[in-house]
Amino acid sequence: MKSLGSDETASLSETHAAILQTVLGGMSVPASKLASLLAEYDPEDDALLCVAKINTAIAPVGLRIVSAVDEASGELVYLLKNTKEAALYGESPYSPSETRIAEKTVECVMEQDGQIESVSLINRVFHKCDKKTPHQEIENTLDMLVREGWFVDREGVFALGVRTVVDLEHHLKEAYPEKAVFCAACSRIALQPKICTDCGAQTHRTCSPNACYVCAPCVKEDTNK
Ligand SMILES: [Zn+2]
Ligand SMILES: [Zn+2]
Repeated sequence: MKSLGSDETASLSETHAAILQTVLGGMSVPASKLASLLAEYDPEDDALLCVAKINTAIAPVGLRIVSAVDEASGELVYLLKNTKEAALYGESPYSPSETRIAEKTVECVMEQDGQIESVSLINRVFHKCDKKTPHQEIENTLDMLVREGWFVDREGVFALGVRTVVDLEHHLKEAYPEKAVFCAACSRIALQPKICTDCGAQTHRTCSPNACYVCAPCVKEDTNK
């Protein structure tokens, strides 16, 4: 990987370096954590300006810090995105077999409207991998991918982790245009949107916690889909 030019690195402060450090592993960082980092280093600094400045510095190496809504926690998070290619499918540190399992898992989750039970998932991935990859290997790989933030496993129900949603955003929009939508409130990608029964607007659940963000004045109650 190309190293950062001295001009760019020279302009990064200690605060910027600390923020960059927290996102470098690839895991998502809640906006609240970013705020506490800023408070620790430089309370005067603005989170958005900091991120913009870091992005200018890391753009030459094809990286960018982006914000997304983590649909598992409902939190706004920041994470590092490879702007040149999808990290999970491209030059990832994973073996071809692990990448294949990841790819098939994304397919299975998306085919099941964003969530799938683990037993059913492992069986489907097994069939999609031509019945050649042992169940145990699929299970171990899934455990690893969950630990690394690519998928979430909530009591045996699998969904895409925000890391995958951001990494594969382009692919998901293209392959599943009906299922991967942009939130009408915050414009960020949503895979499990709340659909307003009155106006049809699709938003993150946290972007329309009670009434619909778009037609709120006309809506009396929570219109959970
Ligand atoms: Zn939203
Ligand atoms: Zn509405």
